[in-house]
Amino acid sequence: MDNLVNILYIVAFSLFIYGLMGLTGPKTAVRGNWIAAAGMGLAVVATLISVRDTENWILIIAGLVVGVVLGVPPAMRTKMTEMPQLVAAFNGVGGGTVALIAWAEFLDTTGFSAFKHGEEPTVHIIIGSLFAAIIGSISFWGSIIAFGKLQEILPGRPIGIGKLQQPLNLLLLVGSIAAAVVIGIGAADGGAPAWVMVVLLVLAGILGLMVVLPIGGADMPVVISLLNALTGLSAAAAGLALNNTAMIVAGMIVGASGTILTNLMAKAMNRSIPAIVAGGFGGGGTAPGAGGGEQKQAKATSAADAAIQMAYANQVIVVPGYGMAVAQAQHAVKEMAALLEAKGVEVKYAIHPVAGRMPGHMNVLLAEAEVSYDALKEMDDINGEFSRTDVALVIGANDVTNPAAREDSASPIYGMPVLNVDQAKNVIVLKRSMNSGFAGIDNPLFYADHTSMLFGDAKKSVGAVTEELKAL
Ligand code: NDP
Repeated sequence: MDNLVNILYIVAFSLFIYGLMGLTGPKTAVRGNWIAAAGMGLAVVATLISVRDTENWILIIAGLVVGVVLGVPPAMRTKMTEMPQLVAAFNGVGGGTVALIAWAEFLDTTGFSAFKHGEEPTVHIIIGSLFAAIIGSISFWGSIIAFGKLQEILPGRPIGIGKLQQPLNLLLLVGSIAAAVVIGIGAADGGAPAWVMVVLLVLAGILGLMVVLPIGGADMPVVISLLNALTGLSAAAAGLALNNTAMIVAGMIVGASGTILTNLMAKAMNRSIPAIVAGGFGGGGTAPGAGGGEQKQAKATSAADAAIQMAYANQVIVVPGYGMAVAQAQHAVKEMAALLEAKGVEVKYAIHPVAGRMPGHMNVLLAEAEVSYDALKEMDDINGEFSRTDVALVIGANDVTNPAAREDSASPIYGMPVLNVDQAKNVIVLKRSMNSGFAGIDNPLFYADHTSMLFGDAKKSVGAVTEELKAL
């Protein structure tokens, strides 16, 4: 039976890795997800086989039912634009579970001094459990704050205690490590009292809260990815303690992929991970639509004028952003582009790596609308083309088009690579108001002489432009 369990685990890891490979492209992503889910299902079955002699079947089944009831409905109902919150919530639950496993292991072995059958826990069980307890607790409480900020239950702006923040965080970290050392030493001497473990979990939990609270809303998706990597590592440590290969491998995969994703996102925003953790950026602190000044005036246009401008262009570059996702305008955009192409206009799509709210967000939406992959251009490939483009059509994008990131060293997003939309001969921006984007800052592009604003919901505006194009 043990051999069967191990074989099933190996098949499960292979499915995880094969599924993950599928996630590298929109065409294979859905299948990849199903394959990885099948791997997880198999790992659960193998684990149930390995604990077949247990007396706790009712508890196990109750746990499975609670997991399905709490997990499936939100996963099915969540909109794509709310995906980061869902990931934060699921990640938090993972971290919390790992911390609870460590707590259960502590109680089960009377403070890691001896198992019920008399055997003493090995060093890797003790260290694995203590690592899992600290990181799992940080991840759980940190993820709750990240969820609250993204769901706008908590303010998105940085909440901190100024200069005392870093020393306090260091103190909390040292405190939880000290508690772990006390428990580790106590294990050889009948086991440390339970309150030391409670202190460890509480200090690590407060550390999780204190690290994430001062980070602004704009950095939150990167933080979630970082917390996700930490949860993976803590799960691997718990796997080490439980001698469960599935947890070790799955935890390491999550840890490694989370680390890679965190780096990619931070790089695309030109932010360093220590700078993000130090906090202070974004979160909608600037009054929306302030325009940065009093005299600046944006020019409004109509669907009819926008249609005429584009119909007589040689090339139009569509710049999609978060607003296109909110409006679900991708199918309408595809229909409009087909009409333009029929009139001999070349249409390309400029994809910024952090447009929307998750990496690949725009690619997924446009792929869903069956926009040809050849028309989707990465930022580095398209940036040189804006200056010879007649019309750049910005659809619900804001921060990723902000020239201040290139030109204004005082801007909070200075240094973030952006699409050179301002260099196009004409710019038409589709959004509902003069409100700011995710970073909460003003965008000088909207006030430029060659920019006109087509106000309204992106789907409705694109639809109106399409009707005008049909009439031309
Ligand atoms: P932004 O959040 O900067 O702007 C989106 C704009 O869409 C808003 O200004 C809003 O203006 C408009 N909008 C919202 N709803 C609609 C609607 N229904 N119709 C028309 N317009 C609408 O989006 P970007 O895509 O330009 O930038 C992404 C931001 O997210 C960046 O700051 C990036 O750093 C951040 N981020 C992204 C990550 C990723 O992986 N993709 C990860 C981490 C951060 P209005 O309200 O006036 O309509």
